[in-house]
Amino acid sequence: MKYPFKVIQKDNELKALPRNTKDVSTIMKFCNKKKINIIPLGGETNRVEGTKGQSKSLNMFIDFKEMNKIEEIDKENMIVTAQAGTKLKKIQNESSKKGLIFPVNIAPSDKCTIGGNISTNVGGLQTLKYGNIEDHINGLEVVLSDGTILDFQSKLKKDNFGPKLWKIFCGSEGIFGTITKANLKLLPKKKYKTTYLVKIDNLAKANKLLKNLRNDHYDDLISFEIIFPIPSYYLFKKKSNYHLIIEFSSNHKINFLNNIKKQKIFDNLKILKIERNFSKSWIWSKREELVYNQSKYNFLQKFDICLPINKWSYFTKEVNKFIQINKIFTPYFFGHLGDGNLHCNFKVEPNTKKNINLLSKFIYDLTITCDGSIAAEHGLGVLKNKLLIKYKSKNYYEFLKKFKKHLDPNLVLGKNKLFKT
Ligand SMILES: Cc1cc2nc3c(=O)[nH]c(=O)nc-3n(C[C@H](O)[C@H](O)[C@H](O)COP(=O)(O)OP(=O)(O)OC[C@H]3O[C@@H](n4cnc5c(N)ncnc54)[C@H](O)[C@@H]3O)c2cc1C
Repeated sequence: MKYPFKVIQKDNELKALPRNTKDVSTIMKFCNKKKINIIPLGGETNRVEGTKGQSKSLNMFIDFKEMNKIEEIDKENMIVTAQAGTKLKKIQNESSKKGLIFPVNIAPSDKCTIGGNISTNVGGLQTLKYGNIEDHINGLEVVLSDGTILDFQSKLKKDNFGPKLWKIFCGSEGIFGTITKANLKLLPKKKYKTTYLVKIDNLAKANKLLKNLRNDHYDDLISFEIIFPIPSYYLFKKKSNYHLIIEFSSNHKINFLNNIKKQKIFDNLKILKIERNFSKSWIWSKREELVYNQSKYNFLQKFDICLPINKWSYFTKEVNKFIQINKIFTPYFFGHLGDGNLHCNFKVEPNTKKNINLLSKFIYDLTITCDGSIAAEHGLGVLKNKLLIKYKSKNYYEFLKKFKKHLDPNLVLGKNKLFKT
């Protein structure tokens, strides 16, 4: 086949490296005509096979590596405009040089790109305070499957001149179109950052502490992370309780946990470490080690769920009952208690398909019973493409399929991504 643009080919995998939006449009128009499966590539850090080709199709990977420019940091309107392939870290660093912050942060920020972040609606370590990335987008430029360029860019705070159609490209993992540019909202930088590592007896006390801190310091509390006893043990190599990582960002220097320590219920709470305005944080490096330890110690069955905060206790009690009966499952739980996102992972011994299915069904059913979500922040990709049909309503699923077909009539955008096409 002859291509009207430069292509690197290896078996059924093609790669194009566009330099601008027009190039993306040419590539997509061509692939649509020839019915070639289109897969946009960011930093490829997703965990759900979102950037994996389909063995039975010809796959065109659109690599955004060369569309990596920050076009403008507009200090007056507090908006940064960046091309889709710009690394998250670069946006954070360049904004910081202008005295502003882009408050979305995840561990692989030096690898992942803004296009990938938006298409997975990334959450991360500060979602409690700042929400997901969708809350920090002011406008997008996107390209549809037939090559149409849609310019939804905006720097306006108030603009109801037609619905904000760009929102559908956020969290849809590239199945409706490809993101080429983003206008992102910036915030003023605060003076102090204070991070605590805390040891606490149990989940109920952790919940109580979260509520107290939210009441007293709502504007300053940005992270409230929990580590359950088993991962705590691997991390600190001692008989362990629950650990919390709590972070505040403020314009005043306060000891945020002073008042808490005076309350009787928190008698046993131990502040193990405090870090202020760190550049390299030991506490957050332990949080990264925790993720690394999952694989190291074989906790390979991973569930990325979100629960209403008042359902965590019921959920964990039910899991405990289940693992008392089924001793083949060992839990490895941690998560962003502040925003409800629990990473509930397990070691399964023996690691058979039958056992994994038993566990998956139990976790997903229980999550739905708790009014939770079975895909909190990692998306669905190709890996979890059976879940929508099973756990969403028939009406939702049918509407999604119709909507996709309208935008992508030849079904060339992300074959089998999110659901089987
Ligand atoms: C160690 C680790 C920690 C993580 N922590 C978090 C976390 O705390 N919170 C969280 O929410 N997520 C987390 N993630 C997952 C996170 O969603 C992704 O890592 C990240 O957002 C993907 O960005 P990327 O550039 O690597 O995209 P990729 O992995 O390259 O792509 C992700 C998806 O987006 C599509 N895509 C890429 N670029 C575009 C584009 N321009 N237009 C349309 N579609 C596109 C791809 O086809 C794919 O479906 C973590 C991942 C890792 C590995």
